[in-house]
Amino acid sequence: MSLIVQKFGGTSVADPEKIRAAARKAIRAQRDGNQVLMVVSAMGHNTDQLVELASQVNPRPPAREMDMLLSTGEQVSVALVAMAIEALGSKAVSLTGGQLGIRTDNTFTKARIKSISAERIRRLLDDGNIVIAAGFQGIDDDLNITTLGRGGSDTTAVALAAVLGAAACEIYTDVDGVYTTDPRLLPEARRVGVISYDEMLELASLGAGVMHSRSIEFAKKFSVPIHVRSSFSDIEGTMIVAEPESRLAPVSGAALTRNEARVTILGVPDVPGTSLSVFSAISARRIAVDMVVQNVGKQGFADISFTVSANDLENVLEAVRRPAESLGAAGVKHDDNVSKVSVVGLGMASQTAVASRMFRALAEAGVNIQMITTSEIKISALVPRDQADRALRAVHQAFALDQAPTDAKTWGQICDERTETADVQTLVSRLRDDALEELTLTGISVSGTQARITLHGVPDHPGVAADVFETIGGEAIFVDMIVQGYDGEDGSTSISFTVAEADLDRSVEVAQAICREHQMRSAQGAGGIAKITVSGIGMRSHTQVAEILFKTLSAADINIQMINTSELQVNTVIAADRAEEAHRQIVEAFSRSLDHDI
Ligand code: ADP
Ligand code: ASP
Ligand code: MG
Repeated sequence: MSLIVQKFGGTSVADPEKIRAAARKAIRAQRDGNQVLMVVSAMGHNTDQLVELASQVNPRPPAREMDMLLSTGEQVSVALVAMAIEALGSKAVSLTGGQLGIRTDNTFTKARIKSISAERIRRLLDDGNIVIAAGFQGIDDDLNITTLGRGGSDTTAVALAAVLGAAACEIYTDVDGVYTTDPRLLPEARRVGVISYDEMLELASLGAGVMHSRSIEFAKKFSVPIHVRSSFSDIEGTMIVAEPESRLAPVSGAALTRNEARVTILGVPDVPGTSLSVFSAISARRIAVDMVVQNVGKQGFADISFTVSANDLENVLEAVRRPAESLGAAGVKHDDNVSKVSVVGLGMASQTAVASRMFRALAEAGVNIQMITTSEIKISALVPRDQADRALRAVHQAFALDQAPTDAKTWGQICDERTETADVQTLVSRLRDDALEELTLTGISVSGTQARITLHGVPDHPGVAADVFETIGGEAIFVDMIVQGYDGEDGSTSISFTVAEADLDRSVEVAQAICREHQMRSAQGAGGIAKITVSGIGMRSHTQVAEILFKTLSAADINIQMINTSELQVNTVIAADRAEEAHRQIVEAFSRSLDHDI
């Protein structure tokens, strides 16, 4: 008998009628001959109301008590769902996270799952029960109640599906699938039939709230197919699987993180170890940073900028205060009135001009880009918050995301062509039973020698980034990493990008022409750099990855010249003559941390 996991989000169990509808779905699946495990969220906006209640008695409630409070929402809904099933004539048992045997670490409000003991669930299922699991919660080694972070019921569902070897994991929600962007923001967004784990992982991490990004880490590691579909209709939704819908489309989705904040640490010494002290303080609080830009040093000093979720800003400012002081930084600036617009697509890894297309679309919409970072399958731009919706619409349009790509495949076609991929099995065999959400690495590699070009004093108005990369692209120069960030008090930015070393001279010439045309301060280029790539699953949300990298390079006295992060890769650019040594040390450091060879 096959097992089906069905997860119901808050709106899908918001009132008694919806609870009965969810119960009927589960009973139907059971009568079709399946064992059914439901995972249920708190009713409606109950979690938000509890958060609000907490803030009324304490502006900064202790994290442990927050988890104690928030977990009650799911305890209410699972009991009601069990009662509804019982009333409809089937057997049901509800279980809290602790009763389910979901063990987590003790990072309250964002705990990670360590292990799940499946016996009790199996026994109850074998006895003919529909088992209803409380989403989003677990217990730590001291039996404290923990929660997995907002939206975490998706992660409970996929983790249970993985551990129990479920045939399917259905996510019932208030949209009928995954769209090219949030359909509430852009009505022209298109529902996709299929999306790959890698794309969904990036999109979720960059703001597509339809799935909790950590649930996709589980899905990818354990090859769990996810079906996102509507609670209110029976139409087929979206399959999240290993394969993409299209291999030709450069972009498959766009996402917006509306409430982003930028932090800049001004005037820190441009020597190895600077980034380490700043980012390890942030990582110690398990806060994921994005869009890290360290601009090229002036007279031995550099500015480090990065973005975090605006919710984390206060916490981050507190975390960096001490390292900034001890580094003798000239100051710490922040701007919490910014949003991040990103495009994601497996296809962009092998295509040129994707970045300039995005920048041109933003320029034509009159959007001013404040920061840029790219990585192999995503490009992010930081924009003023009041331009965010316009920016999202512009990029959605530029990549024609409202239309299906010409080579779009349906889930049925993908199934027909499917062959099992072996590397997932190797990955899973390496996972320890007590470390389900541990960092999973897939490789560490070093590139050949590259060159870096930097433009300083890039004027602060729309269209400059588009001009720069269109001109470079027009010369058939392939650009790899791009970062743009804060450069000076006048609002100007610097743009750095990497090219093949063979293209260095030509790139410098082009950059100097751009520099003259746009009256920038300078254009410089230098060869002799290399990129070290650490690949895995959930690289950004496992905040220790950047810390291990920084620590290792700092201990070897190697300066980091550029960095970019995504959920799939963290890339650092360093001097090429130190690359072999750095590679060896990084492999050793990660092997030590994960306790196995890489
Ligand atoms: P649930 O309570 O069922 O977990 P969520 O509110 O967490 O539901 O997620 C569903 C919502 O996600 C949708 O209503 C939609 O507005 C939003 N969303 C954001 N990005 C996307 C996207 N790319 N595709 C579909 N929905 C999205
Ligand atoms: N109830 C929790 C929340 O609102 C978990 C979830 O719904 O996934 O964040
Ligand atoms: Mg959700």
